[in-house]
Amino acid sequence: MMDAALDKTLRDAAALFRRSRYAVALTGAGLSAESGIPTYRGTGGVWTRFGEPTIDGWDLFCQDPEAWWKLSIEHRVGGSEFSAAIDRAVPNAAHYAMAELEQMGRLAHVITQNIDNLQNVAGSRHVTEIHGNRAKARCMSCGLRYRLESIDLATLPPHCAECGGVLKNDVVMFGEPIPADALEECYRQAFRADLFLVVGTSAVVYPAAEFPLMAKRRGAPLIEINPEETALSDLADVIIRGPAAVTVPALVELLLIP
Ligand SMILES: [Zn+2]
Repeated sequence: MMDAALDKTLRDAAALFRRSRYAVALTGAGLSAESGIPTYRGTGGVWTRFGEPTIDGWDLFCQDPEAWWKLSIEHRVGGSEFSAAIDRAVPNAAHYAMAELEQMGRLAHVITQNIDNLQNVAGSRHVTEIHGNRAKARCMSCGLRYRLESIDLATLPPHCAECGGVLKNDVVMFGEPIPADALEECYRQAFRADLFLVVGTSAVVYPAAEFPLMAKRRGAPLIEINPEETALSDLADVIIRGPAAVTVPALVELLLIP
């Protein structure tokens, strides 16, 4: 059972959704936490325990894409704790509830910082992956995305079938610019939103941190779903303090009531 305070904030959020015509969500690690994927920051986070990743991956790719692909394939075979956790992960109730909000016509678009592909697996169709998708490769010349398993790794680096450009895993590395098409789409969505939902992210990493602020400046109400206080909490119109896997399905339930 929900406590009364949480129940009230869920009802307030549902009321905002009912008034909205174009709701946009920003999601982060908290959405996937209950799928067994460790978060980067915070207690038990990968970065907290092992330190933030080094920035030389992008430099190596730029200098020697063949060497980068070889390392990347070896790493995949050997498997880090983080990639092994993502390999095992399946969508949780929060991913399915996000997809249901879209299917109900309540949520127009999702901007995600997650690379785990779980929102797509759960059925969300309008997703912009600002940090890329680990299941895809991206052409560094034309930006075309490929399913990683569909590309031929017999010769490294692999090349784009359309333009001959060098392919890279779609995941945006430290130091690598965010792909222009994804970034433009995010700005377009944030500009269009008349309601902005932030789920499971402390929203401190730019440029993602900017999108809720952009929407808010244009008058869109802000809903935060997060078990912990964040830098956005002071700006939020409704704060739902609870794990996404419990609260997003509860929001769907409320919106199913005519
Ligand atoms: Zn290409």
